[in-house]
Amino acid sequence: MKKLGIIGGMSWESTATYYNSLNQGVRARLGGLHSANLLLHSFDFAEIEALQTSGRWDEATQEMIKAGLSLKAGGAEALMIATNTMHKMADEVEAAVQLPLFHIADATAKAIHAEKTAKPLLLATNFTMTQDFYKGRLRDQHNIQVLIPDEEDRALIHNVIYHELCQGVITTKSKDSYLKIIDKMIAESQIDSVIFGCTEIGLLLSQNDMDIVAFDTTKIHCEYALDRLI
Ligand code: GLU
Repeated sequence: MKKLGIIGGMSWESTATYYNSLNQGVRARLGGLHSANLLLHSFDFAEIEALQTSGRWDEATQEMIKAGLSLKAGGAEALMIATNTMHKMADEVEAAVQLPLFHIADATAKAIHAEKTAKPLLLATNFTMTQDFYKGRLRDQHNIQVLIPDEEDRALIHNVIYHELCQGVITTKSKDSYLKIIDKMIAESQIDSVIFGCTEIGLLLSQNDMDIVAFDTTKIHCEYALDRLI
């Protein structure tokens, strides 16, 4: 098993899921006392969120590169960024650190193709839903066109992520709001699947909550990485 370097803590609520899923995945594959061989760089998310909301993406990119280089210096042989949003600078991190980076959009695309769904709805931070770093990669490299909610619904989804899920707050009210948005998109746009394109959404929703296919990017990302590390 190769040594994995995780750039995480964004938020730690989902990085904990990554740690759990990666170890469960190693156990499923290798059994016995085997567990994930990894290093974790866990950011103070308040510092990263301040860079995001003030648009200081260049500084955030430098922080991400520094984290990647420290993981490499510690012996990591491949990298994972444990958040969809911070894949905004995935190409720069990969180029600067010179290690293979398991891109979350590539992992998601593989799962979407396997399920043969054609009209996925993307639920994510407003950065991921509106900018091109994630949707564009799905479109240009994997021929997948995603739909996004309208502006009002995007704001709701984004605020729940930062004010609740990333702070460990899980409520029925927010779950119902998300499910209402999904139902509306089924009725209006005939979506046939939902991408949990934020690594905390799996803390709020699961496949059992809906009749259409759910793609939980956290779980998908971990499986994708393990297939390449072991
Ligand atoms: N973890 C979230 C994501 O997957 C949001 C937090 C962040 O901005 O990194 O996008």
